Amino acid sequence: MNISVSESLFQRAQQYIPGGVNSPVRAFRAVGGSPVFIKSARGAHVYDEDGNEYIELINSWGPMILGHGHELIQKAVSDAIQNSFSFGAPTRREVEIAELIVSMVPSVEKIRMVNSGTEATMSAIRVARGYTGRDKIIKFEGCYHGHGDSFLIAAGSGAVTFGTPDSPGVTKGVANDTLTAPFNNLDAVQQLVDANKNQIAALILEPVVGNMGCVLPAEGFLAGLRKICDQEGIVLIFDEVMTGFRLSKGGAQERFGITPDLTTLGKIIGGGMPVGAYGGKAEIMNCVSPLGPVYQAGTLSGNPIAMAAGYTMLTYLNEHPEVYTQLENSGNKLISGFSRSLAKLGLNYTINHIGSMYTLFFTDQPVTDFPSAKTSDLPLFGKYFHAMLDRGIYLGPSQFESMFLSTALTDTHIEQIIQANEESVIVALG
Ligand SMILES: *Cc1c(COP(=O)(O)O)cnc(C)c1O
Repeated sequence: MNISVSESLFQRAQQYIPGGVNSPVRAFRAVGGSPVFIKSARGAHVYDEDGNEYIELINSWGPMILGHGHELIQKAVSDAIQNSFSFGAPTRREVEIAELIVSMVPSVEKIRMVNSGTEATMSAIRVARGYTGRDKIIKFEGCYHGHGDSFLIAAGSGAVTFGTPDSPGVTKGVANDTLTAPFNNLDAVQQLVDANKNQIAALILEPVVGNMGCVLPAEGFLAGLRKICDQEGIVLIFDEVMTGFRLSKGGAQERFGITPDLTTLGKIIGGGMPVGAYGGKAEIMNCVSPLGPVYQAGTLSGNPIAMAAGYTMLTYLNEHPEVYTQLENSGNKLISGFSRSLAKLGLNYTINHIGSMYTLFFTDQPVTDFPSAKTSDLPLFGKYFHAMLDRGIYLGPSQFESMFLSTALTDTHIEQIIQANEESVIVALG
């Protein structure tokens, strides 16, 4: 039997790695079939082990905002490597990147570097708890904040019930401290707050959600949350691991003009290297060890190679505002092309879009929260996904993902994607 190189690698992988992958969504379970194994990438293109070329719409789930193998970042990394790989001691670069992030992200007065978005969100709620002396947190259904125990919680029935663990291995004790509300529902948040007076340390959300597909905050939602948090002494945390340095150089908080108390960052901040960070008001960040009592540490935190990549990426974004104009234009062209195709085909699917993030939901209903996202036709998405892959377009392998554009996309790429999209929708509907 003739199988592809990717398929044969996947067979080997499954013997030694759970599910064959080091992060679940990569396994293509949501869309069926066998995952593509990537060999290399350059600019707007990725190449798989079988020599197929694809136009990138994932970009490593966001970090590659300038496209793959950007020469400045490549040079920064190879220069840094000359000086060894890790010291576990302070470096000049850490000071420079901290100063730069503080100048770019409105809420951040002090910042701590970690190694992933997961670490950033886990640490941020620990600090919020230490700072407030309270235990509970509020999160929203469908928002993803990494795989920390406190976040792997689904909603109970109704807004005012306690969460139940979403994953074995999360204790009931932890689950009891996580309350969940539907996204874009201020009344549900107010009810949770009223029912748990002086017990809620933090409210955490993706200000624009990427992890149930792209879902935008309704008019007044972020401002309403800011107000509730101010009234109740709750630490408002924007998880900008996806949106940070993407929706503008200062992230969603700059774009929407709402300043959280703490911000978590990841993805773009490392330029493709494993980096996360959390930061915010000095008064809160001063609780972090060794200055304050809240412990948080990392052997490889602020790693010099990762900092070289991140610093170069952020410097570029800071000095080139035209990046964001280009991404807005690319996003607008792509989405108007998609809309024209859908109109032509007499289809009424929902496209949520902001800047360089979008999701095409296979549902006629507006998607404003997780239940409405779940009205999408998932088998249809699976067919569409494979039809796009066959046409050389590499998408996130789930309906509940946002796509991420990069500056490496040209108008020609965008036309190709629009054409492939139209054909793929037709193929999927069969
Ligand atoms: C990706 C992501 C995380 C987790 O980051 P990792 O680096 O995968 O641990 C957390 N929050 C949001 C909003 C994310 O998109």
